[in-house]
Amino acid sequence: MLGDSQRVTAIQRTANVHSTPETHFEIDPQALIDAHRAARAGGPQVAGYYHSHPSGPPEPSATDRAMAAGDGRIWAIIGGNGKIRFWRDMPEGFQSVSYTCSEGPGRTP
Ligand SMILES: [Zn+2]
Repeated sequence: MLGDSQRVTAIQRTANVHSTPETHFEIDPQALIDAHRAARAGGPQVAGYYHSHPSGPPEPSATDRAMAAGDGRIWAIIGGNGKIRFWRDMPEGFQSVSYTCSEGPGRTP
C-alpha cells in the first residue's frame, strides 16, 4: 500500500512468493525494493502491506505477529468474510486502526 503514514493513496499488487502461500505470505522482494526505490525518488511512501486470511478473521495471526517488523507501517488484513481491518505494526504489537474511505481525485460523484 502506497501513500504516507496517514493515507493510503494507491495499491500495488505483488506476488506472494512464500512456499506455503495458503497459510503464509512473503511479498515479492523485488517488488518491495522497487517500491522503496520509487519512494526515495520522490514517489509515494510504502505505507504498509495488505494480505488476506481466506478462511480466518481479519486480525493478525500468530504468524503475522512473529513476522512483524514493528516499524509503524499499516497492515490491512482481509478476512474470509470480506471484512477489512487495518492495524499499525508497532514495536509493542499490532494496534487496531480506524479508517475512512474517500473518493479519489478525478472521480465524479
Ligand atoms: Zn495474516
